Amino acid sequence: MSLERALELALQYPLTKRTETLPLDDARGRVLAIPLASKVDDPRFDNSAMDGFAVRASDCSDLETVLTIVGTSQTGGEQPPTIVEGEACRIMTGAPLPQGADAIVMVEDTDVDGDQVSINGPARTGYIRKRAENLSRGQEALPAGTLLASASIALAGTMGHGEVEVIRKPKIAILSTGDELVQPGSDLAPGQIYESNSQALTSLVESMGCEAVRHESANDSMGELRTTLNSLSDCAAIITSGGVSMGEWDLVRKIMEEEGNIHFWRMKVRPGGPPLFGTWKNTPLFGLPGNPVSSLVVFHILVAPWIAKSLEYNEEMGLRLSQQVSVRLAEDVSGAPGKLCLRRIRITSENGELIATTHTHQGSGNIHSMIAHNGLTLLPPNTDGKAGDIIDALWFL
Ligand code: AMP
Ligand code: MG
Repeated sequence: MSLERALELALQYPLTKRTETLPLDDARGRVLAIPLASKVDDPRFDNSAMDGFAVRASDCSDLETVLTIVGTSQTGGEQPPTIVEGEACRIMTGAPLPQGADAIVMVEDTDVDGDQVSINGPARTGYIRKRAENLSRGQEALPAGTLLASASIALAGTMGHGEVEVIRKPKIAILSTGDELVQPGSDLAPGQIYESNSQALTSLVESMGCEAVRHESANDSMGELRTTLNSLSDCAAIITSGGVSMGEWDLVRKIMEEEGNIHFWRMKVRPGGPPLFGTWKNTPLFGLPGNPVSSLVVFHILVAPWIAKSLEYNEEMGLRLSQQVSVRLAEDVSGAPGKLCLRRIRITSENGELIATTHTHQGSGNIHSMIAHNGLTLLPPNTDGKAGDIIDALWFL
């Protein structure tokens, strides 16, 4: 099955989008559930973009203008005095424009002597920030599905929102499977290796705006798998790693075949061919391959888009792990017969274009290759990439 078809099928069992209202202070990193409209005009009133003097432009056409200072306009202060012909008002950046003024002279272009100011530079209307020139009251400046990161959370604040309705984090269970797996930090017996996928998957699940519930890895035993899977019924989805290939000990596949519901098994991608998707007692379950690179790659290309689409993240402004770009290959990269080929590449910007290089060997067990690189090729099935070709790629954000 193609990746596109696999995603389509998985989306027939989406996560349920639930929402909650949070103080803005607790909403960093969360995703807006509904569009956010401004409660105010921004700016709220005509104000100065410079420290200087508010003047009437028509008073300042002579080179040697001297005006009388009649007051000061301060930020957060009272309404400044109105000015008439021959007068100027001191003004701070952001302070309201006095009635009668239509231009600002920068403080650097003035000389003050008592209550007189001589104007030595231009009086500019462009130094006035007009009411509502950024946003009008009622304008929906943040669409639903926007990640509340630095600028968007600042904009939510600017628009007057002390609390925001965000998408509630669905709980997603992470379960590694394999008799050989031991938690890092303990001693290894012969044949054992350190378990690492659950850490990677937990991190990815959290990066996609969900709450990860990481479980101790399960042994390759039908009984243990059954008990563990049954204990995860309070989770919105389950992600397992390992045990989904063709082998006799690939028990996640076996238990899903016999006791769960498999909606698809295997995708035409490399690496990461054997994932399955199904439901365990109505809970969507992704069975990711155990090879460390494969499990991460399948998360990136299948699970992350499933979460993003289920929860209606905005494609541009929502949470995402990667961005599709065009890259120029610096070297030949072989594709895969009949499969979308996801070679790890390092993408760098050189002379105005994105260049892709490879650095380590590409084995699906080599997790270091996900560190030495920052992207994946999207080489269509049966297509080799030649040095100099421009191809599609995913760039990890
Ligand atoms: P499997 O998909 O269960 O056949 O596992 C494929 C390969 O990935 C084997 O070499 C496993 O030892 C390894 N592996 C499986 N699960 C993990 C894990 N959670 N952490 C690290 N390596 C794993
Ligand atoms: Mg295994």
